[in-house]
Amino acid sequence: MEDRLIEGTDLRVSALGYGAAPLGDVYGRVNLRTGTRSVRAALELGVTVFDVSPYYGRTRAETVLGQALAGVDRDTYTLATKVGRYGTDEFDFSAARVRRSVDESLARLGTGHLDLVQVHDLEFGDLGQVVEETLPALTELRDAGKVRHVGITGYPLPALASVAGRARVDTVLSYCHYTLLDRSLDDWVPYFAERGIAVLNASPLAMGALTARGAPPWHPAPAEVLRCCAAAAELCARRGVALEQLAVRFAVAYPRVATTFVGMPDEEQVRRNVGWAFGPLDEELLADVDRVLAPVRNHTWPSGRPENSEPP
Ligand code: NAD
Repeated sequence: MEDRLIEGTDLRVSALGYGAAPLGDVYGRVNLRTGTRSVRAALELGVTVFDVSPYYGRTRAETVLGQALAGVDRDTYTLATKVGRYGTDEFDFSAARVRRSVDESLARLGTGHLDLVQVHDLEFGDLGQVVEETLPALTELRDAGKVRHVGITGYPLPALASVAGRARVDTVLSYCHYTLLDRSLDDWVPYFAERGIAVLNASPLAMGALTARGAPPWHPAPAEVLRCCAAAAELCARRGVALEQLAVRFAVAYPRVATTFVGMPDEEQVRRNVGWAFGPLDEELLADVDRVLAPVRNHTWPSGRPENSEPP
């Protein structure tokens, strides 16, 4: 496993990170045993960073992850969770909720400190409140020793840039913006780097769209995007290569991010993805898949308050 430094912090993390959203049954039911085995397999294969949120499965993912990590030496992994989002339409970015949320996450995750706490999907909130209330509350918790680093997450890159330009944060987590489908994160990385902010990448499989199984029913991408993804999966299948293999390899090779979080709810997917992440990249197949996805390259979908997607 390749390790990378989260710039500006003392955290070294595996280039392939474990995304725990599926442990909250986001992509289908995952029982405790299956989830635990996937976490343990990831650790065994050198994955050292885990990303979760109280939102995933309305706390279930944190509970399962906490149980799976019980007894594992706390110094051997980096734990990232979030505050602010608690349900599909349930947000609370207030300081009081932040303080309560962190205490609840600490209890569910069975730990005395969180390495990284991120404001979850900030584009759904008032960015002024995030800057003036949510992030200062997290900074206080950092000073109290409960939280080691502070970050932000969300889908529209302008919303992340807007807050990163106005507040001190250690990390920005962007998802679905560095994949076979969408490489727009690359345009924004210099903006964050200039401000000393490390970038974390998530969802290299475009939340299931870049898999043979296809996107889940709740996927927000326009139908044309999903049709092109299905065509890419068929092309790969005809060549005897899984689209997931190409997608994971492609994203993890991106050197400008510290890690890429992949959701992998079972042990088999963990083993496959770790194997694929550092294997050879089929350049010819990549070029052919690029052609299939070209009509929908960098297509996005609305997320959060429209005014938060305006460039800063
Ligand atoms: P993803 O792109 O990683 O895709 C996950 C889907 O792909 C799941 O259905 C999984 O079962 C499937 N999959 C994974 N490996 C596979 C394989 N080898 N073969 C077949 N299918 C495979 O999407 P994600 O899980 O939503 O994103 C990764 C992580 O990033 C999340 O779990 C979460 O931790 C983080 N994330 C954070 C935010 C945020 O903070 N706003 C948003 C999205 C994701």
